[in-house]
Amino acid sequence: MTATRTPGVPVVEDGVLISTSPATGAEAGRVPVADAAAVTAAVERARAAGAWWAGLGFEERKIRMLRWRALLAERLEELAALTHTETGKPVADAIVEASAAIEHTDWAARHARRVLGPRRTRSRLLLAEHAGHLEYQPYGVIGVIGPWNYPILTPLGPISGALAAGNAVVLKPSEYTPAVGQWLVDTFAEIVPERPVLQAIHGLGDVGALLCRSGVGKVAFTGSTATGKKVMAACAETLTPVIIEAGGKDALIVDADADVNAAAEAAVWGAMTNAGQTCIGIERVYAVAPVYDAFVDAVVAKAGKLTIGEDIGPMTMPGQLDVVRRHIDDALKSGGRAVLGGAEAVQPPHVAPTVLVDVPEDSAAIREETFGPTLTITKVADADEAVVRANALPYGLGGAVFGKANAIRIARRLRTGMVSVNSTLSFVGMANLPFGGVGDSGFGRIHGEDGLREFAVPKAITVRRAPSMLPAMTFERTPAQVQRIVKALKLLYGRRP
Ligand code: NDP
Repeated sequence: MTATRTPGVPVVEDGVLISTSPATGAEAGRVPVADAAAVTAAVERARAAGAWWAGLGFEERKIRMLRWRALLAERLEELAALTHTETGKPVADAIVEASAAIEHTDWAARHARRVLGPRRTRSRLLLAEHAGHLEYQPYGVIGVIGPWNYPILTPLGPISGALAAGNAVVLKPSEYTPAVGQWLVDTFAEIVPERPVLQAIHGLGDVGALLCRSGVGKVAFTGSTATGKKVMAACAETLTPVIIEAGGKDALIVDADADVNAAAEAAVWGAMTNAGQTCIGIERVYAVAPVYDAFVDAVVAKAGKLTIGEDIGPMTMPGQLDVVRRHIDDALKSGGRAVLGGAEAVQPPHVAPTVLVDVPEDSAAIREETFGPTLTITKVADADEAVVRANALPYGLGGAVFGKANAIRIARRLRTGMVSVNSTLSFVGMANLPFGGVGDSGFGRIHGEDGLREFAVPKAITVRRAPSMLPAMTFERTPAQVQRIVKALKLLYGRRP
């Protein structure tokens, strides 16, 4: 029997997960739901595939990954169309998302050998007879758990790092976006048909929990803070290491010498791209008093021009509409004003752009992740006050600063993993920079050199080349030799700087 379907809400029918467009209800994808045995079997297959993949070496893996990157670029429109159907996001947004993912795949493939390749280390005087070797060995299998808001980019960050480092990957996509996840897996298999180096397992949250307990070498989780805690608890049972890329409540600071028009343009983009369903989306602005009025006017003018459908897609997860409505209502009830949108903005499945001012700092719209095309703008006396307010939340993912003379200094003081100066969200596209947060936004990094190192275990090897001159690590040392060690130590380290 076919269950009644609500657009955008995934259903499981006869062991098959069906995702639908949140805009039209059209079917987007059908995938089998994995049970415990299927998860175990996938991880077992991945273990063997990972050993084979690691054995190919950096150069051969790079070639395969670059071929996959080329396929992703060739079939960009197909991927964007599927992502548009499954998430509702405008095709242009899906293209921008895919471009960043392609960039990261390219970078990880090209730089893995430099960052993770074996190297000799310099010997130290006390163990001069030993040569040091450092290698970064893959974990074997990485479990990747992804969210629905950026179903291409968020999994591809950890996937490309993990593959470049020589691991196999088992991906658990969000139940809202299984078809995009499966598309990534299927296209990778076109390039690497020999072994299941990248697989997907599908289902609801319990399948993600099974993956955490499946014996994978590491879990790279992207999703909400609440689920991140569950993932960490499940992984703790077996001391499986985790990366947690969780939510945020990113702030933009507009300083007195900022280009107000550029700041407003970037604020609207940063807050409302992907209908605000962006972990690093700008949700709060702190504008200093001299530019506050001009900034608010510019934001309202620009956001007021956005069109539902073309610029602002539907909310991908229908349940999120209630959260956005609650935040707007709470802000208005507690003294805030809507200078655009407001109480009537939530019109399922869409939310119209909403700009709120005079919102108290303790209201949900300021403190909790809204994940809608909404923005609060707060007047502050100066950049110092802006920094204090921006840093007042447990989240610490990204942020932005607009200004000239002090912008970088302000950026350094934000308690976040990433900041864009004179733009918003730019750091996510820079393939050579690490991506990740602090506090409730999680820990660990994807992207860049740090992102590659997350997917490999540093292995230290020493090789003795000659007899010891200072034989400390043997019971056969003589009192005279111990005296020589004492002398050597004092000579080397006894002088105070
Ligand atoms: P969720 O935390 O609800 O889900 C994330 C993933 O975890 C999904 O695949 C989900 O499966 C799975 N999952 C659910 N329960 C468990 C469990 N007990 N054990 C293991 N896995 C589980 O997040 P959303 O999908 O709603 O994504 C939105 C959130 O993601 C926002 O908070 C956003 O800020 C954050 N995010 C963070 C990013 C970052 O890089 N820091 C980037 C993008 C988003 P299922 O969908 O089937 O429930």
